[in-house]
This record gives sequence, structure tokens and C-alpha cells, in this order.
Amino acid sequence: MEEIESSINRYLTALDTADRQEPSVAQAKAERLHDKISALKAKMQELKQIEVQLNETPDKQISLTDPDARSMKTRGTGMVGYNVQTAFDAKHHLIVAYEVTNNGVDRDQLSSMAKHAREAMGVEELSAVADRGYFKGEEILACHEAGIAVFVPKILTSGATAAGRFGKDDFIYDTSTNEYRCPAGQSLIWRYSSVEKGLKLHRYWSSNCRNCALKERCTPSSERRVSRWEHESVVEAMQSRLDQAPEMMRIRRQTVEHPFGTLKSWMGATHFLTRTLTRVSTEMSLHVLAYNFKRVLRLLGSDALMAAMKA
Ligand code: SF4
Repeated sequence: MEEIESSINRYLTALDTADRQEPSVAQAKAERLHDKISALKAKMQELKQIEVQLNETPDKQISLTDPDARSMKTRGTGMVGYNVQTAFDAKHHLIVAYEVTNNGVDRDQLSSMAKHAREAMGVEELSAVADRGYFKGEEILACHEAGIAVFVPKILTSGATAAGRFGKDDFIYDTSTNEYRCPAGQSLIWRYSSVEKGLKLHRYWSSNCRNCALKERCTPSSERRVSRWEHESVVEAMQSRLDQAPEMMRIRRQTVEHPFGTLKSWMGATHFLTRTLTRVSTEMSLHVLAYNFKRVLRLLGSDALMAAMKA
């Protein structure tokens, strides 16, 4: 709309200039400019109507090509499309669960995909590995409560470490005393609790920061405060599982890249052929079916597969 506005202003200025030219030239130019201005005004009107609709949508997005497609925020490109969530079994590289969503944020999908995968595999116990894009405390807690052991590396977003100061990992929590021990060996004691974005957080700090020799490497404020989510122990337990099994992330890479690479080489790495969420889901389900079918054929051979299908 801004661009149209400035184009209209540019044409209006050109119209004034045309007025000062020879009448025959001026008239021809003026007609052309009036046509351009009318077309831009019509476009502006159209955009204003879309703006009204846009403001009525909950996520402030409208896709004119496919009404269900949405901007995929986590992909870093703002690409408008769909988010295909998939869970693979690490042993056979079969796709055990998949879901097509138009929610561009992976962080909200971990527990629902892990539960789908467990149901599809018909197992009680499940370990699930995901990349750091899925790191979210509430989702890790939901998996823990469902009895699923997840492995998700932390997102390294600490402003303090980016600025060269101690990060949260430099503060060691002691469950028995409910205190943190800081790099200077001081105790950060519990001060108060609050609720932020629906999460209950406990705050800790020491009273000795002002005189601390390490203060410059720790905080620019009068004291360093550390927050702890009420379910932080679940995240810490996951981190220690991950520390003890560093091969997990390699397994994730090997497991996921194989089927995705195969699917993309079959379907082309560009776009779905259908539109709307239901149709795109159907299209994806056909890809998954074809992939799993060929994979099982490769693993079992046609005789065993036919026998299994008949049984
Ligand atoms: S500034 Fe405070 S929290 Fe940081 S190291 Fe010193 S005493 Fe510990």
C-alpha cells in the first residue's frame, strides 16, 4: 500500500509537469497518467478490503493462493506453505507418524508427534530424539508425563553468554537446599515466585554481588538473578540423559535425512501439487504410503511382504 501511495504521488507530480507542456503532448500524457492513477487507486481499494479481512483473522495472515497456507516462521525464509511433521523409527527408517500442519513453529509439536509415534509403533516405552528447534519446556514436560524419554538439545539463546558473561549453566542448582551455587561460590537463595506467560518461575539471587571480584563477568545489574521454572528438573534430567548419550543427535540426523532425501528426490524438492490443508495432507499420506511400502519391500522382500499382507 505504501508503494502504491508513493506511485500515485509520483504520477500526480508527473501530471503537473505534463500540464506545463504543449497542449497536444500534455493531453496524451495526462490521459496515460490518469489511466495509471485509476488502476493504482483500484488496486489500493482492493488491498484495503484485504486489510479488513486480514485484521479479522486470528494470526493476521491471508494467503491468496492457498487459503490454508501460512508463513513458516521457523524456516527463516518466511516461506508460505505447510509444516510436515514426521517421526521415523531409527532401526528401519520407516515413517511411523506424520502430520501436516500450517503452524510454522516446530516447538509446539514435540509431544503430540511423540505420542502419535508411540501409538503407531504399539510400544509402551519410547525414546524420542528431536533437534533443538523442538526445545520447549512445556512439551518436554508433556512427554515426561506421558512416559516418553525425549532427547532435545537446548537452544543457545542466552544474552549473558553472547555478551561474554557467565551463562545459566555456570550456576549449579542444589535440590537439597533449593539454592544455586554461582561461579564465585556464593549461594543464590530463593527470593520469590511469579507467573510469566503461564509458567511459574522461581527467582534466586545472592546478597554479595556488589563486592564480588567476578561481577564484571557476571552481571551489569546490582545483582545477578537466576530464574528457575517449577518443572526445570525435568529439563535438567533430559540434559543429563543427552550428556550421557551424545550419539543420539547423530542417530537423529542419519534417521531423518534418509527418508526426507528419498521423498524429495521422488517428489521434487519444490512444492506440493495440491492446495488446502486436507488435500495437502492426502498428498503427503500418499508419499508416506509409497515410501513405507517400498522400504518394507526392500527390508522383507516381496514374498515375505505378500505373506504378511495375507496373514
Ligand atoms: S556477581 Fe553475584 S552471582 Fe555473579 S559470581 Fe559474583 S556473587 Fe556470584
